[in-house]
Amino acid sequence: MEVVLIPNKITVGDVSAARGELKKGVIKGVELVNNASMDIPVLVMNGKSDGPTLLLMSTQHGIEIQGIEVIHRVMRHEINLDSLRGAIIGIPVGNPLAFMHHQYLSWIDNLDVGRERVDRSEGNTTERLAYAIWTEAWSKADLIVNIHCNTRPDSLVYQWINVGNPTTREHVEKMADAFGVTTIVSDSPLPDDAPPTLGNMAARKGIPVILEELIDGRWISEPSTSVGVRGVLNIMKAFNMIDGDPEPQEGIPIVPGVNRFHGIIRANRGGLIRLMKKPGDHIEEGEDLAEIYDLYGDILEKVKMPVDGYVWAFPCGQSLGTSGGLQAVQAGANIAYAFTRDKD
Ligand SMILES: [Zn+2]
Repeated sequence: MEVVLIPNKITVGDVSAARGELKKGVIKGVELVNNASMDIPVLVMNGKSDGPTLLLMSTQHGIEIQGIEVIHRVMRHEINLDSLRGAIIGIPVGNPLAFMHHQYLSWIDNLDVGRERVDRSEGNTTERLAYAIWTEAWSKADLIVNIHCNTRPDSLVYQWINVGNPTTREHVEKMADAFGVTTIVSDSPLPDDAPPTLGNMAARKGIPVILEELIDGRWISEPSTSVGVRGVLNIMKAFNMIDGDPEPQEGIPIVPGVNRFHGIIRANRGGLIRLMKKPGDHIEEGEDLAEIYDLYGDILEKVKMPVDGYVWAFPCGQSLGTSGGLQAVQAGANIAYAFTRDKD
């Protein structure tokens, strides 16, 4: 990336950070029935030298909180304002309406701030949050890391990139290489009629976005936080925002190369579920992945792996749209996210 000249002051919401300043404040959100304002906290760190503006956002989904710690560690401990080239915008909780009720989606309208339109300042409640995040933060960034988490601690840390947009492909691949975890690649170009969500608008404006999925999402724990911090610092090194060479990830399994999402494996019967493989293990087509058994202990279904490949997580036990409620499934429940690896 060519050096980006940043203005002397960076303004996000009510925060204005001059060169060499780290400031905190809020992006104005929505007013609730009791007139409390549900705002979006933001940290802005403006380095002393020119460089790109990196945006780190966590907790688009309210129960995925590891990225909050990653943002704190990067912005408050790891990075020194004197040596930072460019700026960092940190949004610890992208959907405060989800986070406040320990829910995946906004409790008011059950919507996802990452899947709503960003062009409706007078839209529904979650659309207004999306509008605020786009207008005040995402639209001002040169690079975006959107940090999510799977629920179970045995999930595979991975990143998802879309390389179907020629204007962002090179930078997205460079971010993924630097972050250094298992990479799931999609190459479908953005359709012309795709709704203007945060991710789609960024792709349209040529802003590269990478989606990271840490693990044990309801807690602040290792290895998620160290992997997340190392990955973000690696991206900053790769884009010359700080000195140093990217460090390889450690302490987690990594499936190398180009991997592709195969699909969601679902239960056909109801009952308790026993998992028989680990995320990141190579699994042959037809091998037993899990079994579902009833309250008498009889096995009702042996769930088979549909393809030669891997799973990255077992999102079972869904309750209120998210996984990890209870180790039990109903017919149609998600059991595993499966992926395959391209031949080298
Ligand atoms: Zn998520």
